[in-house]
Amino acid sequence: SAQEQTLGFQTEVKQLLHLMINSLYSNREIFLRELISNSADACDKLRYRALESDALYEGDPELRVEIEFDHDARTVTIRDNGIGMNREDVIANLGTIARSGTAEFLKQMSGEQQKDARLIGQFGVGFYSGFIVADEVVVRTRLAGTAQDQGVEWRSKGEGEFTIVDIERAAHGTEIVLHLKEDALEFADEHRLKGLVRKYSDHIEVPVRMPTVQESEDDTEVTVTWETVNEAQALWVRPRTEVTDDEYKAFYKHVAHDFSDPLTWSHNKVEGKLEYTSLLYVPSRAPFDLYQREGARGLKLYVQRVFIIDDAEQFLPLYLRFVKGVVDSNDLSLNVSREILQQDPQVEKMKGALTKRALDMLSKLSKDSDAYQNFWNQFGGVLKEGPAEDHSNREKIGGLLRFASTHTDTSAQNQSLADYVSRMKEGQQGIYYIIADSFNAARHSPHLEIFRKKGIEVLLLSDRIDEWLMTHFTEFDGKSLIDITRGDLDLGDIDSEEEKQAQQESAKAKEGLAERFREALGDQVQEVRVTHRLTESPACVVLPENEMGYQMRRLMEAAGQ
Ligand code: ADP
Ligand code: MG
Repeated sequence: SAQEQTLGFQTEVKQLLHLMINSLYSNREIFLRELISNSADACDKLRYRALESDALYEGDPELRVEIEFDHDARTVTIRDNGIGMNREDVIANLGTIARSGTAEFLKQMSGEQQKDARLIGQFGVGFYSGFIVADEVVVRTRLAGTAQDQGVEWRSKGEGEFTIVDIERAAHGTEIVLHLKEDALEFADEHRLKGLVRKYSDHIEVPVRMPTVQESEDDTEVTVTWETVNEAQALWVRPRTEVTDDEYKAFYKHVAHDFSDPLTWSHNKVEGKLEYTSLLYVPSRAPFDLYQREGARGLKLYVQRVFIIDDAEQFLPLYLRFVKGVVDSNDLSLNVSREILQQDPQVEKMKGALTKRALDMLSKLSKDSDAYQNFWNQFGGVLKEGPAEDHSNREKIGGLLRFASTHTDTSAQNQSLADYVSRMKEGQQGIYYIIADSFNAARHSPHLEIFRKKGIEVLLLSDRIDEWLMTHFTEFDGKSLIDITRGDLDLGDIDSEEEKQAQQESAKAKEGLAERFREALGDQVQEVRVTHRLTESPACVVLPENEMGYQMRRLMEAAGQ
């Protein structure tokens, strides 16, 4: 039955459509990139599914994307013979945004942020970008392998609702017709469209074709020849030297579903026992769900050029979950599944090597301090999970960490441990740090008094994760990391002999006072000691060497322990 149904967009979609049309207007040509990107994904998916059943090709195995325009009708059409969609898929994919946390995030966006195309871009709003140039969008599609009467037509003016109806459709795959807005007619033009395909979609592996129509001299015969407009070769297969920066950037946007340029990337071909190619990217901006358990993470996995799965999490540790990209293996089997990936020793080896690659890429990036600071501000909190998760790379991760410090006395986390070490005083026992609830609490801690007086640098830590980090990160460059609020503090050879003697004498003299405190405080404290740490405050509370810190206690309490 040609059951016609009009449905409302999910609230988030409505909001997003509205924001997108405004914030992306000046960059509206990207609609073509987004729709081609979706078509390419759909072809990838069909190729994968057809590994098991050739019949899904329905006799048309030559995957492709076609672009046509009609100047008089004011339309641009993007068509593919990929996987296609059934009615259910259409309603779910072209009516809602599945990503959890979206509504929450949209609600929290300020007016300024709403105009920021980069923020809007992180939703994978790809399909909806058609409405930036079109006042009506019509989608005709059929899921490969279903009967011809299972086709679906979806249409919408992008104003809150869409209509779907069952149709007959001979071809599987999807066709999207954009009815261009008055001010977007420039896109119904061969040169404009070809230019955009080359600019944005050269790296797409499936051929993107456009027709050339030739009329015979006497106007009686029309012949159409299809020309492939893009390079149509998987970008990661090409040698590094032949790929331009712009191509790497364009490919990133396709793979990562991001609108912003990446910060950096690393492209490597590995030969030998294990053969694979990897292309890893660091985004320039954290996705809003970076800390959500369900947030998308992982690499796009190919086996011998054939797309297998998105978001393969098994190739990188969690603390590198912000890394995007592609891994193409020559050794894995084409029918590999997520379950198999989890146990495969080859995958484990690749994970080790890719982790090193990613860390090296960050280490290279750190030579450019502005770019690295951008990275750190976005992803530093995630990298701090590293020492706990990945013991073998602790030292490397340590080199990538950045901290606030008494050296600069600002809250900016921009000092490396190597910098700290280079400023250490002769005889200094280790790398000193303090952890507090806020930067200001750390900076004004009475524990710092003696260090400031002696000109010894202390790292000022105040992120929620810092205590977790420091329980797993105890040494760097052969030097201990020392919490200045714990136990007995030995400033080592920095104190002169006379100072030490004076300290001992004053400790003796104040023993009576300490005894009175002990009596007064009773069970509330373990110990009362005369200290030489304080130069201004009369007293402070310290934790014994091996006790859990304040932040950890609070975390454990919150977790009901
Ligand atoms: P994303 O590509 O990031 O998933 P989009 O908004 O671009 O988000 O697309 C939403 C979804 O709609 C896709 O994930 C896909 O399931 C479906 N879709 C879009 N275009 C096509 C197409 N040409 N063929 C099949 N499915 C498509
Ligand atoms: Mg998309």
